[in-house]
Amino acid sequence: MKQSLWINGTNHETEVYKPLYSPFDGKKLAEVAAATDEDVKLAIEAAYRARKTMAEMPAYQRAEILERVTAQLKEEREECARLIAEESAKPLKAARAEVDRTIMTYTFAANEARRIHGETVPLDGAPGGEGRLAYTIREPLGVIAAITPFNFPMNLVAHKVGPAIAAGNTVVLKPASQTPLSSYKIAQYFQKAGLPAGALNVVTGSGKTVGDALINDERVKKVTFTGSPAVGRYIRENAGLKRVTLELGSNSAVIVDQEVDIAKIIPRIVSGAFAYQGQVCISVQRIFVHESLFEAFSKAFVAEAKKLRVGNPLEEETDVSALISREDVKRAKGWVDEAVARGAELALGGVEEDAVLHPTVLLHAELTEKVSCEEIFAPVVHINRFSSFNEALEMVNQSQFGLQAGVYTNDVNRAFKAARTLEVGGVMINDIPTFRVDNMPYGGVKLSGTGREGIKYAIEEMTELKLVSFKLD
Ligand code: NAP
Repeated sequence: MKQSLWINGTNHETEVYKPLYSPFDGKKLAEVAAATDEDVKLAIEAAYRARKTMAEMPAYQRAEILERVTAQLKEEREECARLIAEESAKPLKAARAEVDRTIMTYTFAANEARRIHGETVPLDGAPGGEGRLAYTIREPLGVIAAITPFNFPMNLVAHKVGPAIAAGNTVVLKPASQTPLSSYKIAQYFQKAGLPAGALNVVTGSGKTVGDALINDERVKKVTFTGSPAVGRYIRENAGLKRVTLELGSNSAVIVDQEVDIAKIIPRIVSGAFAYQGQVCISVQRIFVHESLFEAFSKAFVAEAKKLRVGNPLEEETDVSALISREDVKRAKGWVDEAVARGAELALGGVEEDAVLHPTVLLHAELTEKVSCEEIFAPVVHINRFSSFNEALEMVNQSQFGLQAGVYTNDVNRAFKAARTLEVGGVMINDIPTFRVDNMPYGGVKLSGTGREGIKYAIEEMTELKLVSFKLD
């Protein structure tokens, strides 16, 4: 299959096409267009020209377009799940769950499109403000550049395209090079749903080439980026006065306090650590267990993790499959070996098999080891003990990241203390940090980024607040 760019509502040929391979077995999936600087300019031009049409489109029409996209996703759920599984090696079960979440995300976007509104402002609260009626309205920004990672190729695109279209913006979308096909599929759905030409353009190619062309163009009013901290920092430093939302990585932690029923929570924590091979920005990477439960917890956790089926992402039974690249297998395995050489105990895994790293559990890794303090983005987790709850909170905060944290405790005072103390964008009491539904505010602090997604919150960042004041007679 040859996949061209999607610009101004039509396929756009370019000079260079690059082969796309399955991360699991290396099978060739497609030849994908690699956009030049000129191609990106054309896409921006198309989005720029479409911005007035979109800004003038009534809310109900924007909502209906989004609803028609969800209808197509529902109809082709299985086809979409297979596409995600093939290009990203996400096991089918997880790929289906991603399609379901994508449907929810566009549904929320359709709902929010209908209720974007401002408020009245009591200007007479200040001397000199009397005799006026004032209100705010929210206007679309215009052209938004959306840059997305490989790990949720449909749903993270939905978290950018959904609110952008809901608010009447236009989009140039740059998906990750490993997972472009899901984005082209979505562009087709929007086309069939009646989105005006130019309102959504998809440009694939080198992150640096496409990224720079988007970041440096004055017509682009906002860059919304999900991906690694290094690229996020580069965008922030080069985006000038554009608005920037950055959804970056983490090394998320969960605390298991004393007297918690561990049998009840272990399957959930195992899934938080190993779902999609740990390549989730809120994957459980660090587990802190009260010393009274540490031995029992570690044993039961390893026993549960052993049940995971490793294999082909397209097989129904598979829980864990290939990492996105062989280099990532080498990198993650290297970090595990390094931690073990310096005293961590390998309780499970550490085994490399072609493109797969088997689920790996370490005990007592130092918090300064890369497996702990860097984002591993692989099926690797470590379990450490703590003796006081305050110590556990400190260990969670001892991180350059701060996306979400989970705390299992039966003590309400400790729960409130955790909620106040943890330096993260979201605290999940009695749950794993890997919890997300698509209408909640989502985003991080520290190196995990700035800004929030979750449709309503993304819309706030994708609109300009305008004040209107009427001086009355
Ligand atoms: P990545 O390497 O940073 O890539 C993300 C996107 O940025 C890709 O489309 C990539 O294109 C593009 N890119 C690369 N270099 C660029 C540049 N110089 N300028 C502009 N764009 C550039 O991240 P990834 O490996 O795909 O994804 C994993 C990371 O995403 C992890 O750190 C994970 O935690 C984070 N993430 C965060 C969230 C969240 O919501 N906080 C959610 C999911 C993932 P190419 O593919 O062509 O290089």
